[in-house]
Amino acid sequence: MALRGAVTRLLCNSQKCAAVAASRAQGTAATAIKDVEEIKKPAKAPKVAFDWRDALNIESQLTEEEIMIRDTFRDYCQEKLMPRIVMANRHEHFHREIVSEMGELGVLGPTIKGYGCAGTSYVAYGLIAREWREWTAQGEVPAPTRSWRNPWMLWLDRAQPRHDPSRMETKAKYNPSSGTFSVSGAKTWITNSPEADIAVVWAKCEDDKIRGFILERGMKGFATPKIEGKFSLRASATGMILMDEVEVSQENLLPNVSGLAGPFGCLNNARYGIAWGALGAAEFCFHAARQYTLDRIQFGVPLARNQLMQKKMADMLTEITIGLQSCLTLGRLIDDKKAAPDMISMLKRNSCGKALDIARQARDMLGGNGISDEYHIIRHVMNLEAVNTYEGTHDIHALILGRAITGLQSFSVEK
Ligand SMILES: Cc1cc2nc3c(=O)[nH]c(=O)nc-3n(C[C@H](O)[C@H](O)[C@H](O)COP(=O)(O)OP(=O)(O)OC[C@H]3O[C@@H](n4cnc5c(N)ncnc54)[C@H](O)[C@@H]3O)c2cc1C
Repeated sequence: MALRGAVTRLLCNSQKCAAVAASRAQGTAATAIKDVEEIKKPAKAPKVAFDWRDALNIESQLTEEEIMIRDTFRDYCQEKLMPRIVMANRHEHFHREIVSEMGELGVLGPTIKGYGCAGTSYVAYGLIAREWREWTAQGEVPAPTRSWRNPWMLWLDRAQPRHDPSRMETKAKYNPSSGTFSVSGAKTWITNSPEADIAVVWAKCEDDKIRGFILERGMKGFATPKIEGKFSLRASATGMILMDEVEVSQENLLPNVSGLAGPFGCLNNARYGIAWGALGAAEFCFHAARQYTLDRIQFGVPLARNQLMQKKMADMLTEITIGLQSCLTLGRLIDDKKAAPDMISMLKRNSCGKALDIARQARDMLGGNGISDEYHIIRHVMNLEAVNTYEGTHDIHALILGRAITGLQSFSVEK
């Protein structure tokens, strides 16, 4: 107490002295007293307005470069992607030229340094994924290509069975006479496989090590049939990949990677992007539902004036805000090389589960229009169903976290 009192006295005295000295210089004691009064009043902090679009001011936590990258990509999404999405989704049409457009913008494989990629921070990658929502509601930004001027579309196998890549069913056999590998197996549910020019496939070799192989369209024994009847992520093609003794040369073997580090590296990168992208889709649904309920008059008042609507919007805003802040923290940790894969699991799971819930609530708030694709929300609902499943289902990520919490794996009956 004594210390605090002394500090206060010292501060007051020095302020008074300064003011008196200043007023003497100007010549009147009366002015001096007025000045002292003014100094005593604490300076008023500017009033902070609450921004429902950015409730915890994430903007202030981004670098200028991150904001610039985000804004450039946001403009592209609004101007170039949005006008195409309704019809592409309705007719299951994949606009292949988008890969070139995105390459030109430098947002393909954005964190990769070199190879014509931008080499951005992980936070910038997350911000790109958040904007990408308008198109597919996929968090994942398409994989890098050989060169954006002459793009090779890449299909990426993230190892199957997905939840347990150590039991890899695709096999690669070395042929000593030709110095090549024979790759055999089948993979399902692969984004872009019917369209892609090349594929990165993980396969178990005879030494039980998992290695990555680059397969090219046109190779003998290599087929990529499209999966028909898909009601989610309809603006991008999803297919199978069938490999029947596909002969692959040594130079198509991925260098410097063997074991599970390769597939898991791909998985973690994609899951991190999804954590941002799913929330981006949720934001879109929240904003659309807010505007719709402000405009729609029922029982003589805007729907948004009802308590039930406001509670739903309060819940949406809260979950989106907390989720985005967590993604930002995770991005910074990855950039600082301080992130563990379980952190990514936690946020992939949280973002997808919460985003799906928000999208379903938003769909309900639009009544009948909620199921019309022109209002976009139903597309996000359908897409988020897949996003909640792929790259590890909601429940599988719970088991990953369960293992991290208890030290006990519960995936299988084995110890
Ligand atoms: C549109 C789309 C695009 C995709 N794109 C790609 C891609 O580009 N590359 C790629 O590699 N994969 C891709 N996938 C595959 C996706 O990653 C898998 O579908 C997903 O990981 C789930 O695997 P699964 O379908 O084999 O389901 P399963 O593993 O058969 O799971 C079925 C259900 O069982 C539950 N379950 C499984 N094991 C356990 C357990 N031990 N305990 C409790 N519950 C359990 C799961 O949570 C789930 O609810 C895509 C999928 C879709 C739908």
